[in-house]
Amino acid sequence: MPDAAGRRAGDSVPHKPVRAYIGLGGNIGERTANLAEAIRRLGETPGITIVAQSTFLGTAPWGKTDQDWFLNAAVALDTTLSARALLDACLGIETAMGRVRTEKWGPRIIDLDILAYGDEVIDEDGLQVPHPYVADRAFVLTPLAEIAPDLVISGRSVADMLASLQQE
Ligand code: ADP
Ligand code: MG
Repeated sequence: MPDAAGRRAGDSVPHKPVRAYIGLGGNIGERTANLAEAIRRLGETPGITIVAQSTFLGTAPWGKTDQDWFLNAAVALDTTLSARALLDACLGIETAMGRVRTEKWGPRIIDLDILAYGDEVIDEDGLQVPHPYVADRAFVLTPLAEIAPDLVISGRSVADMLASLQQE
């Protein structure tokens, strides 16, 4: 039975907004339009308010290198959604925009990853936060450093992780 606020058992309880960071990327089709569209959809999702947005950064493919270049971005948002509901929103935007999952790290129209959700550490089936590869990926850290250089993820600031990566 829904309670007076219309919630059902198992619904996440509304809470104070949490600052979260999303990394976006894509390497199929109209990359700029697709990134803009994904950010627009994020911002229109109930419970999400976009607070900052990086520029769009062209990057070489990572992991699986025999594919087209990517365009990447990062956004900061405040959300009353749980981390799991935020993930569902991200995956829902990917699906709505026509993403079909084929091979791991393969070409994609759009990818939305939760990089950080407040300072929560989550390690569940299908949801790891902070995103496990943040420290290794310049294409994540570079746009993120534009909007949140002082953000600390797993004990290190974004600016610091990016500097270490650039020294390699
Ligand atoms: P990748 O982003 O590593 O290229 P996918 O976008 O295909 O891979 O995502 C595969 C799965 O990763 C998703 O179905 C999702 O459940 C899981 N996942 C785990 N942690 C996260 C996270 N922090 N952000 C986004 N997806 C995540
Ligand atoms: Mg992803």
